[in-house]
Amino acid sequence: MKIAEVIVDVSAYPVDRPFDYSIPEALEELIECGCRVQVPFGNRNILGFVVAIKNETEVPLDKLKPISTLLDIEPVLTGEMLELAKWMKRETIAYEIDCLQAMIPSALRAKYEKMVLLETDVENLEEALKPFFQHSTKVPYKEFEKHNLLIPLKKGLREKHLSIENVVKQKGQIKEIRKVKISEDHKQLQKIHDNLSNRAKKQKQMLLWMQQHAGAIIEPEEIYKETESSPQVLHAVMELGAAQFVFEEVYRNPFKKEVEKTDFLTLTDEQEKALKAVVNAMDSHLPETFLLHGVTGSGKTEIYLQAIQHCIQQGKEAIVLVPEISLTPQMTNRFRSRFGEQVAVMHSGLSVGEKYDEWRKVHEKKVKVVVGARSAVFAPFENVGLIILDEEHESSYKQEDSPRYHARDVAIWRSKYHQCPVILGSATPSLESYARARKNVYKLLALKERAMKQPLPKVEIVDMREELKKGNRSMFSEKLVEGIKSRLEKKEQTVLFLNRRGYSSFVLCRDCGTVMQCENCDISLTYHRYNERLKCHYCGFEQPVPTICPECGSDHIRYFGTGTQKVEEELTKLFPEARVLRMDVDTTKRKGSHEAILEDFGAGKADILLGTQMIAKGLDFPNITLVGVLSADTSLHLPDFRSAERTFQLLTQVSGRAGRAEKPGEVIIQTYTPEHYAIQFAKEQLYEPFYEREMMMRHAADYPPYYYIALVQVSHEDLLVAADYAKKCADYLRSNLSFNASIIGPTTAGIVRLQNRYRYQCLIKYKIEPNLIPTFLQLMKIYRTEWIKKGIVLTIDINPSLI
Ligand code: ADP
Ligand code: ZN
Ligand code: ZN
Repeated sequence: MKIAEVIVDVSAYPVDRPFDYSIPEALEELIECGCRVQVPFGNRNILGFVVAIKNETEVPLDKLKPISTLLDIEPVLTGEMLELAKWMKRETIAYEIDCLQAMIPSALRAKYEKMVLLETDVENLEEALKPFFQHSTKVPYKEFEKHNLLIPLKKGLREKHLSIENVVKQKGQIKEIRKVKISEDHKQLQKIHDNLSNRAKKQKQMLLWMQQHAGAIIEPEEIYKETESSPQVLHAVMELGAAQFVFEEVYRNPFKKEVEKTDFLTLTDEQEKALKAVVNAMDSHLPETFLLHGVTGSGKTEIYLQAIQHCIQQGKEAIVLVPEISLTPQMTNRFRSRFGEQVAVMHSGLSVGEKYDEWRKVHEKKVKVVVGARSAVFAPFENVGLIILDEEHESSYKQEDSPRYHARDVAIWRSKYHQCPVILGSATPSLESYARARKNVYKLLALKERAMKQPLPKVEIVDMREELKKGNRSMFSEKLVEGIKSRLEKKEQTVLFLNRRGYSSFVLCRDCGTVMQCENCDISLTYHRYNERLKCHYCGFEQPVPTICPECGSDHIRYFGTGTQKVEEELTKLFPEARVLRMDVDTTKRKGSHEAILEDFGAGKADILLGTQMIAKGLDFPNITLVGVLSADTSLHLPDFRSAERTFQLLTQVSGRAGRAEKPGEVIIQTYTPEHYAIQFAKEQLYEPFYEREMMMRHAADYPPYYYIALVQVSHEDLLVAADYAKKCADYLRSNLSFNASIIGPTTAGIVRLQNRYRYQCLIKYKIEPNLIPTFLQLMKIYRTEWIKKGIVLTIDINPSLI
């Protein structure tokens, strides 16, 4: 008897280990490692992943239960992924099931999937199902359940079981179109034709036509048109055996437009050198990590493209990761225009079905390149030759929920598995990566000039305090107003960037000063004009704007802050003739609207593009000659040790949008703290000096990259309980970690109350701490066995992106 080890879909201690199940004989040849199955667990039937197959078990035979259903024809996870999950589980202190689930598209992630029945004997199966398929190609699930059959889904059986499979596939979100396959047998067609009575004129006519198209697979609509007949006639002819329905899998197309093919550019010397280094590593199967540090517009993408070309020529596959926010059509089109149909794209803008189809293209090896956001790092290629992380410094590469993995770490793990190089690209590398490059852990490749030798844009800093002194209370400095005006005259384009982090519009009572706050969190509510409501961005709580103050009863309620809508209003007042496009969360809710806005702007349908972080990256339009940053300060004063780094990165990125073609660019940065080094260095795009300066700060405060950090957070509905267990946590860590680690806390978290829970945290700083993972695993065990019952939530985040 064969035994399967199954990781079941239950995130509870002590379930985090494989369970043994016997494999029913009928499934023995079909089940492979990496397949999803349904298994009895307690009194339920739940989803699981087969992670190993063996011949023996320690479970007594009378306790051993069989797998109930096999959910996949082909394994959804490769052996590599199963191995990776084991590594990730330990590195991120997560449940293995969460790691496995993170690797597959959401369409396959359903916790409970009603599956079709199974039957052991193919002949019987066909017999049993015959009645259902006589009149219809769709069979209700109920029927399958009633008959309690098992469907052997195997590649070779496809033809035979097309219609049956169809039922199964719909569950898996596969889209198919129904076509008619005309019999290949000329004699049979002739015979059917001859046997028809002369009164069946239409049918005879159709058969004549079919004889000329024997063996063809055609859409029914086309047959009606060609033979000037109706579905009834076709059905009648099909009943006689002249044709049958077949299903053709189709991929939903997430791309609105075809793209024109582009050719390779002749590389500059700098580009050539960088490419060569990567190609060498590829050819010698070296799992090297390159840090490609190139100023904005230096042609990093062209290097990616040519490296991928080489990778494909070697018969291998490439994975390109791009931050979600910059997965613009412009970016993806650059890959599609070079590699056409060989590219799959994965991002959150796609529907569940589209995402699944793009994933299937990778899974079925129909493509050679995947371009996607963080989770695309799990693309199930089996012969990876190159992995690229563009904008490697982006915090979105770190997943905030369990499993709290960083795509960079996973990429490097996979590069070792496949013996292939990784490229980390950025104009503003994270301090961690740059420090590693300095130590030669990563190989540094530098592009110091823009690809076409365009000068970097001229950057000016405007001190908004001076504007106030001059009596200008608007959000626009004189300089910026002039700048926009002259662009309007010259018919050039302007991009205005509102650094909105921590800058949302809030509502305040002018009499008592009360700010409307979320019921569940210590956060002020954000005002949304489009539906006149207040919303909490952390927990989703919503309420209408109050007409009287809940504290004092006054009706002097006022909106504050500078949301994009407010900026837009002021902008249209200043420049009534200007055509303004706004791009923020509100205007890009609808699918494809992001795309549409950029397209309009690229086509010159607007003079000014106003937006948030969303526009900071990837925009590459030749007619943009002015970039304005309305307030550089907002991200500078966040209570996060990376706030200067983030500000520097953001300002450098936005500035890089100006003057990318022949026309020179200008950047105006408005700020209340012009003297800050992050702003000063961003002005000159001076990465190295910024790095040196920031490293000094990090050194002084024992922060990364000098130390690693881990964050242990405890929350509870009751403040005192939360504090009590946070203390227990800290004590536990102090008695188990060595002196190499310093433990700070417990302290309250940045936002103390979130979703009605009080939060405390301990921060751990360490260089080398062999006890770290074992201690965390042990702490997790205590939590999962004892504390969880008391309503505590404990999370451990190693290398958190935000603290
Ligand atoms: P980055 O990704 O470093 O910001 P891009 O790859 O977007 O830079 O390149 C900036 C611009 O320069 C693009 O319009 C690109 O087509 C162009 N470019 C890049 N490399 C070359 C080259 N070798 N010759 C001519 N143009 C180039
Ligand atoms: Zn009030
Ligand atoms: Zn809230």
